[in-house]
Amino acid sequence: MCENHEAARHGPAYPTFDDCVRFHGHSCPGLATGYRVSTAAMRTLGVKRPYDEELVCIAETDACSVDAVQLVTGCTAGKGNLIIRDYGKHVFSFFSRESGRAIRVLVRNSDIPGRSAMDELRKKVFSGIATPDEIARFHEMMAETTRSLLAAPEDDLLEIREVTEKPPEKARIFASVVCGECGEPVADVRTRVVGGRRVCIPCAQAREISGRA
Ligand SMILES: [Zn+2]
Ligand SMILES: [Zn+2]
Repeated sequence: MCENHEAARHGPAYPTFDDCVRFHGHSCPGLATGYRVSTAAMRTLGVKRPYDEELVCIAETDACSVDAVQLVTGCTAGKGNLIIRDYGKHVFSFFSRESGRAIRVLVRNSDIPGRSAMDELRKKVFSGIATPDEIARFHEMMAETTRSLLAAPEDDLLEIREVTEKPPEKARIFASVVCGECGEPVADVRTRVVGGRRVCIPCAQAREISGRA
């Protein structure tokens, strides 16, 4: 295990994995993966817990890992510096506005021992036909995988490379207008014009549906 990895796991600058578990609600392999991605990205870019919108992340997944990214890197959906483009890939791009550097972090499809057995059990557990023993075994396997992901050498787990892409535009503050249909305040840029009136998206969609019927 390399020194950098040790520093990333135990350095005081980052929230711990336990902090992530509290935030996410449970411990799982996805969260562990997100934790490794986040700490590696911040270390590579030389960023401590970022302020405001200094760091920007584009996540190509919407899975559990994203919650670790939000807590550890401070890139959050609400601030607009976490952008989810759900391509179903465990790939995360990080941009540091301060240094102008950007990296792309890919989670390697590492061979987890017993993965196929775990996938079989998962199907049973989630379709409600697993026995109590199978449920217990499934949770034990998940915990094992989580532990091994947290301990894996970084190079085995992640592929990190510098990229030259530019970060997306900063989040803008939009003017609020009142929807001509429901009367609720709505961000200007999210409105549509229907029948000469400015309305919110749900109202525009409702009009479309009733128009078609
Ligand atoms: Zn999870
Ligand atoms: Zn409306």
